[in-house]
Amino acid sequence: MLSLQELQFAQRYPFTSLARRVVKEANLGLEDLPEEVMVRAREMVAGCIKGKYAPSIRDSQSILRTEVLAFPVAKILVSLMNRQEFYQRFAKTFSDTYFSALKAERDEALLDLASEFNVKYSLPESKAFFACLALFDYLKTTFSEDFMKLSNQRIAKGVIYLTRNDFARLLSRLAFTQLLASLPVSVDGVPAKLKAEAKALLAQLDTARFKFAGPEFGAGSLGTINPSLFPPCMANLYSQLLSGVDVPHFGRFDIATFLLAIGLPAQAVMDLFKHAPDYDERVTRYQVERLAGQKGGTKYSPPNCEKVKAHGFCPLPSCGVKHPLTYYKREMLQAAREAKAKPPKP
Ligand code: SF4
Repeated sequence: MLSLQELQFAQRYPFTSLARRVVKEANLGLEDLPEEVMVRAREMVAGCIKGKYAPSIRDSQSILRTEVLAFPVAKILVSLMNRQEFYQRFAKTFSDTYFSALKAERDEALLDLASEFNVKYSLPESKAFFACLALFDYLKTTFSEDFMKLSNQRIAKGVIYLTRNDFARLLSRLAFTQLLASLPVSVDGVPAKLKAEAKALLAQLDTARFKFAGPEFGAGSLGTINPSLFPPCMANLYSQLLSGVDVPHFGRFDIATFLLAIGLPAQAVMDLFKHAPDYDERVTRYQVERLAGQKGGTKYSPPNCEKVKAHGFCPLPSCGVKHPLTYYKREMLQAAREAKAKPPKP
């Protein structure tokens, strides 16, 4: 029987061997999941995709256990939803939550968690640093934060010295990488009930798709453009860029030319690319200005459906158009008609 503290630990870090033990001991089948586990798994997925998941559970053993059991179910649900940007969001929100928890953790627990990730650390003599590790091991992790880059770290003789905060950041990044790499999990033989849950959740999240896109890119904030009316291909690429997914070259070309064609200013397109993991302001400016036909060049046209399909970004057999721009114009006209048909407010 696990103690309350152990359950709290397993809930905070559901990737640990302790959490796996809780799941194993519960011995639940996917066919007979308790409703409370399903509810928490749904909340976990929806919360993580919206970027908000930080349950505050103090001392209820049964709620803590439910939360630990919900984690692998949430991974199955998100895998059934089958969207790369959702995997990214799921892993990112969890790793941000871990980081907050790690900062408040006891030193010994922090070091135990490092061992869970096979981090070969040692303790430095200097009190200014919390731990040090071989530079080679540190380089296996990629960081988007500038302060974690090598140029901002103390390095001596092939060893990197980390403060407590940076060590916690390293562990949360490892948790992110490990969780992302584990998605999608295999969904072979998953019961129909879970598939239906994932489908319903996907529909719900798609409705809210652009409400969690961030203040700079929320619906309506782009003036003349309305992302909620984008064709599925462009909606996916747009959402992926906002989520920090490493969108391939042709995807970037397709969405950038589409946005420029519907009237988004080049600067706003450049701002969108700030979310890309390999963002480089100079390169982005050069490329977007080129696509926009600035600096004396010719403006590039967005690709038609045939090309978007060939690039691998069309998720549907057809949506009744031959060009994503036609889809968007059609939806804009329809929305305008519906707005006109609405009775005026009294
Ligand atoms: S059919 Fe065309 S507009 Fe529709 S999703 Fe595919 S590429 Fe986009």
